[in-house]
Amino acid sequence: MFCLTPLFAQTVAQQIKIPIYKVNNNHYISAYEYARANQADIYFNENKKKLSIKSTQSKNIVISQNSSFIIVNEKIYHLFLPILYQNNDFLIPINAFLNTMKNISGPIGFIDTSNKHFIIYTQRTINIDDVAIKNKTNGMIIHIDTRQKFNDNIISGAISQGWLSITIPGGIIDSAKIVNAKKKYPVKRIRCIQNIESAQISFLINEDIDEFQINSSDDYININIRMNTEENIAIIKERGEKWLLDTIVIDAGHGGKDPGAVGIGGIKEKTITLDVARKLGALLEQNLGVTVIYTRDDDTFVPLYKRTRIANESNGKLFISLHANSAKKSHKASGFETYLLRPGKWDDAIEIVKRENAVIQLEADQHRYKDFTDEEHIMGSIVQNQIIKESEFLASQVQIQLDRVLNIKNRGVKQAGFHVLVGAEMPNILIELGFVSNKKDVRLLSKAQYRQKMAAAIFRAIKTYKEQYEKSVIED
Ligand SMILES: [Zn+2]
Repeated sequence: MFCLTPLFAQTVAQQIKIPIYKVNNNHYISAYEYARANQADIYFNENKKKLSIKSTQSKNIVISQNSSFIIVNEKIYHLFLPILYQNNDFLIPINAFLNTMKNISGPIGFIDTSNKHFIIYTQRTINIDDVAIKNKTNGMIIHIDTRQKFNDNIISGAISQGWLSITIPGGIIDSAKIVNAKKKYPVKRIRCIQNIESAQISFLINEDIDEFQINSSDDYININIRMNTEENIAIIKERGEKWLLDTIVIDAGHGGKDPGAVGIGGIKEKTITLDVARKLGALLEQNLGVTVIYTRDDDTFVPLYKRTRIANESNGKLFISLHANSAKKSHKASGFETYLLRPGKWDDAIEIVKRENAVIQLEADQHRYKDFTDEEHIMGSIVQNQIIKESEFLASQVQIQLDRVLNIKNRGVKQAGFHVLVGAEMPNILIELGFVSNKKDVRLLSKAQYRQKMAAAIFRAIKTYKEQYEKSVIED
């Protein structure tokens, strides 16, 4: 099979500005800046104060401190003014250098009219190739093809007068290709500026940008842009109207080889969660006429990613994850609480998150959770922001209903980043039913009647949520 891909790096003709320095009324350029502009390799001989500049056009220039002679491709030329060595840099007399190089290989550039810059003609190796615009329902992704990894920490972006400008240190752009890249609404124009140290690509965007985020990989830079929030809310709402609250997913935490928290008297979290899940499911099926999907309905181990997949694939409209708490340090800790997944609040309730997420270590496919890239997370977070309002309402209802019937502490609604809730495309909450490390909680959690009480309270919360949800769909 033939391979037509060129083996050599693609170069582009560019004009690059470098500053001219004035010393004793003579004009000079920095040898290092000249070398960088030409992407040349430099070899510095410190003992001899000699510098070799070897550019991609295989022009080899050697200069020495205080010498007015330069060597170009092993031939000696006279510049009449000496090369200066200042602040660890060599200064080359620009006029003589320009004339000498012109005689050797044709013009290498020109001095601008202000006498402040030397504009170099150069061939540079492109490392930024192309741009593609991908529309998303809630914004867009500007995908920049690169030939190397640019660390996203050093890439910067700024918005000014409708232009989003991305500055990429070390970037060398194929300006012609990028400026003429296929534009899609809302990108109206693309501009490029090539500097010695960086490349700047600017996009004229015909919509208000809410926020953007840059992330890079080995061969691309992605700019995730979120915009048009109001319109998106309308789209999501419209989609929501077609949804009936007909399927509820109940997720009994842990199971099988993962017992969850093990508490006083050997009480296991997985046993409590499964029993409450079954009781809640039965109430929902009998009284609300909805389909109940269990992520597990027996004592088996189900990885976290599978739990949300089950929820998404079954078209679940609500996701209820049941857990029980444990506090190693304080046996006094007691009560029930409901969690929301709130993007950007991952630091909250760190300890409980660590414990609940620790189950991932029991799973064979741990790498799956690394697949939540920033891009997916930001795009996912927008849907989550719509979902979160409904989740908040449900969570508050759960706390209200549990508080009415239970005699243990109401710890309120909290926010944290649970893996089990990441990726659930529906309102979702995680309920911690009580502490298996607390005597009183354990005594209650061990009773079937008490577990029935909890299930009934959660059921009433869901019923209120369903009524509210359907009412708002009709009213809007
Ligand atoms: Zn748990």
